[in-house]
Amino acid sequence: MVSRVIPVDPFDLVIFGGTGDLARRKILPSLFRRFVAGQIPDNALIIGAARSDLDQAGYRSFVAEALAEFLPAAQRTPEDVARFLDDVDYVKLDATGDEGWERLKDLARDDRVQAFYFSVAPSLFGAIAERLHRFGIARTDARIVVEKPFGHDLESARALNAALASHFAERQIYRIDHYLGKETVQNLMAVRFANILFEPLWSARYIDHVEITVAETVGVGGRGAYYDQSGAMRDMVQNHMMQLVCLIAMEAPYEFDPDAVRDEKLKVIHALQPVGMDDIVRGQYRAGADTQSYAEDVGNPASTTESYIAMKVEIANWRWKGTPFYLRTGKRLRARTSEIAIVFKEVPHSIFHDAIGWHENVLAIRLQPNEGMTLSVMIKEPGPGGMRLIEVPLDMSFAEALGAEGADIPDAYERLIMDVIRGNQTLFMRGDEVEAAWAWTDPIIRGWEEQGDRPRLYDAGSSGPEDSLMLMHRDKRRWREISE
Ligand code: NAD
Repeated sequence: MVSRVIPVDPFDLVIFGGTGDLARRKILPSLFRRFVAGQIPDNALIIGAARSDLDQAGYRSFVAEALAEFLPAAQRTPEDVARFLDDVDYVKLDATGDEGWERLKDLARDDRVQAFYFSVAPSLFGAIAERLHRFGIARTDARIVVEKPFGHDLESARALNAALASHFAERQIYRIDHYLGKETVQNLMAVRFANILFEPLWSARYIDHVEITVAETVGVGGRGAYYDQSGAMRDMVQNHMMQLVCLIAMEAPYEFDPDAVRDEKLKVIHALQPVGMDDIVRGQYRAGADTQSYAEDVGNPASTTESYIAMKVEIANWRWKGTPFYLRTGKRLRARTSEIAIVFKEVPHSIFHDAIGWHENVLAIRLQPNEGMTLSVMIKEPGPGGMRLIEVPLDMSFAEALGAEGADIPDAYERLIMDVIRGNQTLFMRGDEVEAAWAWTDPIIRGWEEQGDRPRLYDAGSSGPEDSLMLMHRDKRRWREISE
């Protein structure tokens, strides 16, 4: 299979926060990989902009170190690194001061795509947007990329949207949700809308329920202070999991066009029902044999923030009425896995009275590890001995199906940054989507605060609090195993 790498147009990309963790771990290695793949033209310019006292040479060494730390040696020859570094520059500036901005203006070139990556705390978004405008740096076709968290609640999200909207049009704003850049997530759309097979079955008529699990084995790590202000609901459900719900539940857009897709996703968010407190279980991990408790990790013994959440979500429209979506996500769980399971209903009448074993068909879409899809179907067990049915998977692991190239699936950030340069907003969240998602999440969080709700404790390495099992059991359903 020949992969087609279509080079993007020449561009200037400024990374505000170019010395930060995200730039080191994701943005710079992703740019490098696309450069080596031949997608980035030689005359592109990547400019780090941050407060650190560095010059061009100092920043080039910083970038070289980041590549060495976050990419395997086989992926970076010294020649490629040297060629890449030729296109790297640095501007020292403070987002809240006025020094350095003139230099940034001097570097800007009119004849190329102009993009600004805001890889800084959201509190700086407004200051940067204002200066890009005031110093006459950003053109009217410039693109800006902003990172999560996009707000803490509806009010703060609105304020952020307003701060950006004072200087940039919505068509210029790229709100990153890296889940949308995952190959499998896009395949969800391909499977639904490029095959006749699934769409007729894709409704409450044939789907019993949908399960979305995002499980991590790690705790909050070094992000404790941030995480304790946020919790699983804000950190995972409001953005990533909500986006997955939208892609599963949305109607077919009239074409694969950014606004057509985002209009359909927005309708799903509007159709989400308010969630009752009985339909949510919050949890916090205990100390394990050699791991600290959540409260110890965040240094806040009285913390009531959840590191786990399970919830039952209903979508009130014709397609989905009666098919619950069960979402769960948490830290320090048994295995690291992200999976969407579409669990189909049983056949209306079984003709195999003596059959041994019976299961529902499940379309399982794995986001990590091993991106791929599996459809479980029932077949007859080979050989004599009656009509014994067994469940077998029809497996489509991308790495295997696509051969050696499949094993080298681009990271979500690689795809998304190239989409910014190409000017394609399909996989980015629109402002109204983000606000609608907060409008749905806010009352839930407010409910906990008003009731003084405390999360249930769960064991490190488990599947979450016992009560989360009940969420499914009382509907006569069972969670799928959390396994890799
Ligand atoms: P970081 O603290 O590691 O880096 C912050 C960067 O901003 C540094 O380069 C710093 O020099 C620069 N900076 C800080 N104040 C500045 C100022 N006044 N003027 C100019 N530059 C300034 O943060 P990070 O982890 O790289 O995160 C950046 C953004 O990305 C944050 O909004 C974060 O929430 C988001 N994010 C990070 C990750 C991640 O994995 N690190 C993941 C998702 C989202």
